[in-house]
Amino acid sequence: MPHTTALIYSDSYQKYDFGPWHPMKPVRLAFTYDLIRAYGLLDDVILVEPGPATDDELALVHEPAYIEKVKELSVQGAGEAAAAGWGLGTGDNPVFAGMHSAAAAAAGGALTAGRKIMAGEFMHAFHMGGGLHHALRAKASGFCIYNDPAIAIADLKLRHGARVLYLDIDAHHGDGVQYAFEEDPQVLTISIHESGAFLFPGTGFAAEIGSGGGRGYAVNVPLAPYSGDDIYLEVFAELVAPLARAFQPDIILTQNGCDAHWSDPLSHLSLTMSGFQELFRLEHQLAHDYAGGRWLALGGGGYQAYTTVPRAWTVLVAVMSGRQLDDQIPAEWRQKCARLGQHPAPAWLVSEKAPPLALQEQGNARAAARDSVDLVKKTVFPILGIS
Ligand SMILES: [Zn+2]
Ligand SMILES: [Zn+2]
Repeated sequence: MPHTTALIYSDSYQKYDFGPWHPMKPVRLAFTYDLIRAYGLLDDVILVEPGPATDDELALVHEPAYIEKVKELSVQGAGEAAAAGWGLGTGDNPVFAGMHSAAAAAAGGALTAGRKIMAGEFMHAFHMGGGLHHALRAKASGFCIYNDPAIAIADLKLRHGARVLYLDIDAHHGDGVQYAFEEDPQVLTISIHESGAFLFPGTGFAAEIGSGGGRGYAVNVPLAPYSGDDIYLEVFAELVAPLARAFQPDIILTQNGCDAHWSDPLSHLSLTMSGFQELFRLEHQLAHDYAGGRWLALGGGGYQAYTTVPRAWTVLVAVMSGRQLDDQIPAEWRQKCARLGQHPAPAWLVSEKAPPLALQEQGNARAAARDSVDLVKKTVFPILGIS
């Protein structure tokens, strides 16, 4: 089978839980898994239950003192006062019991997937519990405790000497991954996100292109609010494809946060489900064209836990495994969603009625995207030898 696909999944993902008032709800992953199953997609994938990353593996990216601190605070009853300097015990990243093992499980999933792809056990993998791209070397940030994409990339370099293309389509800048490989020309990071002028973490401007020997190997494409499908597709055609062609990666990691969807409460972007479907197809194509098919897809943000996240990531698994899905969502899943989701359950997987955009908003978004694309072409393309 040319497109063997693995689904990296564990019920233990439910333990990555900042509490009932936190926007990142682990139930989104259980509901995604349920929708994948309801569509019969589990027949098309190899199911892999990963183990947690070890301390040494986490230390590929994180400071040992930080790992120790996370462990210490994971014990129920640990005081939060000492945690703020480490980014923990904050509104975004409250301390919770068992957080070390929950975060180590997310990192373990990315490590396992990357290694098995390089070993040829399967060609594509989706690890929905991963994509925690904001975690920094010694600090939790933006709901992310350990940076599983960066840990997997460091491991792929160490074990396989791999050249890695990291592509991040989450609504938020993939700052932690960029910083981890800021000076490294063996890792090309590309982040397409809502501009830091409007959104957390306030970084990721087009002028940030890496530093030292890694200058030109970090690409940022900040977008204005209301940027939608056509803008993303243009960015892919004009930047992502030529960059991948020039870089010639051994493997592509994608971070597929779906918080750029128009319905997401945390961003102001306007991707539709059919836009996501097209982006996933392009990622798939990219992997086959430039990386021998090796594609590790990670999850990421996504805060419509019942309606948007399960649909987007089910579409991703369908694209990966080459399956066409009926647009009508299986009744079994809809009933469960209506019962537990406190939302009307969506009827269609891809079809939806996105709110119309004002001409002014569209014009602003187009102009901002143009500026970002032009700046990247001017600064990064010459370094990578793209004419
Ligand atoms: Zn394929
Ligand atoms: Zn995000």
